[in-house]
Amino acid sequence: MADLVITNILALQPGEGVIGTCLTVSAGKIAYISDSQDPIGQADVIDGGGRLLTPGLIDIHTHGLHTFLYEESPEQLVRCTEVLPRYGTTNVLPTLYTVMNRKSLKYLESLSGALDSVDHVCVPGFHLEGPFLALAGAGAETVPGDVGLLKEVLAAAGRVKAMSISPDTPNILPVIEHLCESKIVPFITHTHASVEQTVAALEAGARHATHFYDVFPVPDETEPGARPVGAVETILADSGCSVDFICDGVHVHPMAIRAAVAAKGWRGVVLITDSNIGAGLPAGRFETPWGFPVRTSDDGPARNDDPGSPMYGTLAGSSLTMDSGIGNLRRWLNLPDEQVWAMGTLNPARLLGLKNKGDLHTGADADLVLWDEQPDGRLVANRTWTGGRCVFTR
Ligand SMILES: [Zn+2]
Repeated sequence: MADLVITNILALQPGEGVIGTCLTVSAGKIAYISDSQDPIGQADVIDGGGRLLTPGLIDIHTHGLHTFLYEESPEQLVRCTEVLPRYGTTNVLPTLYTVMNRKSLKYLESLSGALDSVDHVCVPGFHLEGPFLALAGAGAETVPGDVGLLKEVLAAAGRVKAMSISPDTPNILPVIEHLCESKIVPFITHTHASVEQTVAALEAGARHATHFYDVFPVPDETEPGARPVGAVETILADSGCSVDFICDGVHVHPMAIRAAVAAKGWRGVVLITDSNIGAGLPAGRFETPWGFPVRTSDDGPARNDDPGSPMYGTLAGSSLTMDSGIGNLRRWLNLPDEQVWAMGTLNPARLLGLKNKGDLHTGADADLVLWDEQPDGRLVANRTWTGGRCVFTR
């Protein structure tokens, strides 16, 4: 029995192309896609008006949106997820970076408890950006590898899907191995690692690099004429390791994304926002809990806006949303549309092992977005469904 039929659409299968003009949902799952425009039964029928329909976007690295931060309070965590569907995001890994320590275990438990109250999007789990990082940046924690602490943090955080680590953190290999055993995907980031350290991390089970190139400083030149090589080249050379990018045009140059696509193919590249306070709102000045205000730009980076700070004007997060990120990639990469869409849907789903997310196969969760294309080429969500339930209408 169909619950929802969306007719008159271009249903885009990531990686494949348009596969039909009518999509039927039953019990929260995709029942079938066809070219028939004749819905049967008592279902809700939506005329898609000839619009593009894709799977919902999946953001695997984001700290907040609007005036909300995921790690600021259980209430903010829930409210933050409520605004995601208007940007086409239906699955998210709320990303935490300063609360993975023994003093915060009780607080982590309370954040974890809030996940049960989230109902506008799906939360496969948290992304913990730290604490076993080698380079600080953005307030992240830098402590040596400690499987005992890791177990306590994972127990408190409950649902965890990814943890960012650095290959050059002391004693990191047992941490990576424990993450793999726990079915948590280890991401590499915030690193100045050597070739050897990066190879060891990859061999231990790390298989993705997050906000790639950012906080991956260029290694020092040891001999004029010999180009230094480090984590970036080692990750580009490993076909089993995927990468993701903050696609705002400032955190990473579009040419560097093209280089990664050439090295890895479209399946090996993922879009993230790394979004923070102010994302999704008009550019402006926002107070933060970090001791300084930030000035955001439309879909671009946020910068420290405290004229008295030595860090005045430096990068302090991203204001990107997933819909704008996809729009940027469509302009920057000379790729078929279905391959670009995969970077925000299919690729993150497969990276996290989410078999029923990220594409439109029969039986997949009906996390769907109907898109309006603006005259300037921007995409905005017209309607968003999570598990077959409409969670946003423009
Ligand atoms: Zn981050």
